[in-house]
Amino acid sequence: TTEIREMLQELGIKEINPQGATGQVWLDDSEREVRDIISPVDGEKIASVKLATKKDLNQIIETSQEAFKVWRKVPAPQRGEIIRQVGQELRKHKEALGKLVTYEMGKIYQEGLGEVQEMIDICDFAVGLSRQLYGLTMHSERPDHRMYEQYHPLGPVGVISAFNFPVAVWSWNTMLAVVCGDVCIWKPSEKTPLTAIACQHIVNKVIKANDLPEGIFNLVIGDAEIGAAMSADARLPLISATGSTRMGKKVGEVVGARLGKSLLELGGNNAIIITEHADLEMAIRATVFGSVGTCGQRCTSTRRLIVHENVYEEVKDRLLKIYPTLAIGNPLSEGTLVGPLIDKDSVENFKKALQQVQEEGGRVLTGGEVLEGEAYASGNYVKPAIAEAQNHFDIVQTETFAPILYLIKYKGEVEEALSLHNDVKQGLSSAIFSTNMHETEYFLSHAGSDCGIANVNIGTSGAEIGGAFGGEKETGGGRESGSDAWKVYMRRQTNTMNYGKQLPLAQGIKFDI
Ligand code: NAD
Repeated sequence: TTEIREMLQELGIKEINPQGATGQVWLDDSEREVRDIISPVDGEKIASVKLATKKDLNQIIETSQEAFKVWRKVPAPQRGEIIRQVGQELRKHKEALGKLVTYEMGKIYQEGLGEVQEMIDICDFAVGLSRQLYGLTMHSERPDHRMYEQYHPLGPVGVISAFNFPVAVWSWNTMLAVVCGDVCIWKPSEKTPLTAIACQHIVNKVIKANDLPEGIFNLVIGDAEIGAAMSADARLPLISATGSTRMGKKVGEVVGARLGKSLLELGGNNAIIITEHADLEMAIRATVFGSVGTCGQRCTSTRRLIVHENVYEEVKDRLLKIYPTLAIGNPLSEGTLVGPLIDKDSVENFKKALQQVQEEGGRVLTGGEVLEGEAYASGNYVKPAIAEAQNHFDIVQTETFAPILYLIKYKGEVEEALSLHNDVKQGLSSAIFSTNMHETEYFLSHAGSDCGIANVNIGTSGAEIGGAFGGEKETGGGRESGSDAWKVYMRRQTNTMNYGKQLPLAQGIKFDI
């Protein structure tokens, strides 16, 4: 823990932290409710944070509005230069930040580092984007006229994020929004505020070094109540919210009621289809990483495995050989593949789901135990489970944020597999393992996967920043990160210019006065 203390120091985190920040200035007031942050790794208190009030939020929004007036005038490539510097700072602190992600959230250190790398990658992407915020030009139907469109910044953008990617989701949104000329107010998950505070220290340093006003990058530490207040606030033209479908429905409704924009990134119920033409070696590796990686706490985790009857027994046997050998334990230790669940509620949900699948007629084949002993002192360590089930079971239709893989058998053609695959409410990530072209192309066709992400011979879990990330149906429909996802952070304006000496009307309308 000396190491942990040094790491917190390097990242600028003190024992009791202020409840929010607006660029260089940290809000502080001893009157605030204090919450202890407990590590899921060892059950120890890491630090305490103060929760922001609505008054704090109001102050932060007002500051951000002032900053926006300045920031939107800074040319986009210069805004990109600031993000380039943020990326450089993140590179310097990659190890410490990666460790803090691991210690606070529980994902293994390699994934903690991967999360920081994702932030660095999106900074690079955003720097390039800052010179490519392109609009189209069109040919006008009227003589001596010119039409084009341009993108303008929106204003202060609210970013609400989930615990399982404590910092990456912030960077996906914020780095793009900031090069687009917006300013951001980030409310991280109340379960993982420390990595957020560390990142705020990093951006504060860059803001100060460049003599920029406070209010461009803002942080507000709080729980659902502050998230709800942000959603209702008409001064925030866009709310980007990542989390459960339950949360997304509430945020969508509140933002919709004021006709604001929302970008929703919600729960998944992701499946891999393994056909009889699959390379099973690859399929098994992808399935295990997808279902037990991050202890089943990724929005893209593999929850359902839809397997052709001809290879079903072999797939099952192979998985049942691997699962008992998985290294479960302290995620900071080398060699660990499965860390803890985030908290006790999560452990309870895991146990309840396994109980329910049995009540509905399924069979747990392996795992399900909660591990005890000194090495598992937090009480959050579980053995990943596999259960045989039917796609229509209520529990299979539900996203349980824990390492449970449901095995589902299909007969006949790939069309049968797809009808099971699409028969859930969520639509985030999907995959097929097959070397048969009819099967893979059908999977990618309009009649195939209905998800926002559809992979061939790659698992469901994880994605590269270069593509637009998000899902359909109850996953919320939002897209963030690569491709043209930046457009959601800007408002589009169509401009028509008349350089002639007449005033012709569109559609040839005559209106003589
Ligand atoms: P959660 O819904 O409990 O919380 C997410 C965030 O929303 C937190 O910051 C929370 O404080 C806030 N919040 C909760 N209720 C709110 C309300 N009424 N108004 C405004 N804000 C509110 O989710 P979680 O447990 O932190 O994360 C796990 C969930 O997130 C899973 O369902 C997972 O699939 C999903 N997730 C989705 C993506 C994606 O990109 N699709 C990425 C990561 C996580």
